[in-house]
Amino acid sequence: MLKCPHCTITFHDNWSVSTLQVVGLNTWEVKHTVCPSCRNLTINLVCIDRASGTNVRTTTRIHPKSSSRPPVPQEVPEKLASDYTEACLVMSDSEKASAALSRRCLQTILRDKAHVKPGNLTDEIQAVLDSGQVPSHLTEALDAVRVVGNFAAHPIKSTNSGEVIDVEPHEAEWLLDTIEGLFDFYFVQPGILQRKREALNQKLKEASKPSLK
Ligand SMILES: [Zn+2]
Repeated sequence: MLKCPHCTITFHDNWSVSTLQVVGLNTWEVKHTVCPSCRNLTINLVCIDRASGTNVRTTTRIHPKSSSRPPVPQEVPEKLASDYTEACLVMSDSEKASAALSRRCLQTILRDKAHVKPGNLTDEIQAVLDSGQVPSHLTEALDAVRVVGNFAAHPIKSTNSGEVIDVEPHEAEWLLDTIEGLFDFYFVQPGILQRKREALNQKLKEASKPSLK
């Protein structure tokens, strides 16, 4: 069974296999299947390696590109959502590219939502930490961005956040985790609170009590 990466419907997957080439002890194949529900194609590249005496299969999804991250909440503005989504999608191919997109996305959030004075990313993160406006789990995550990314040794990450340069181990993933947390804090939670206030005000109104401002 396969969960369609396009429409998420689960279907009985009949794969068509085409052998591309046998190279030494490796056999390269392309497998594809069509979702009966949305009619979209899923394509895998398979390498069967017989070097160890047994068949070791390595399967890579080549279409559609997908990430294991949860989807971006709908409250997040398009320009941030697209940088973040791209950062997730390229992660398996290039952590450098992913981290560059994430740093740029992070900087935009800090400027637009935390209203930090535009400068370099290190100082902008410090300004948010000093402001006390974000909860402690996010201040710790932001502080760790500089530490995990070793910003001190790579000042260009800070002065030119979107630059594609070497990443430290786990840096790209940590950036995605941090941005997810910021999305929730700045875009999702305010909406939830607003809906709760509205519901409460409705009840207060029905009880002829003054509403919350
Ligand atoms: Zn489908």
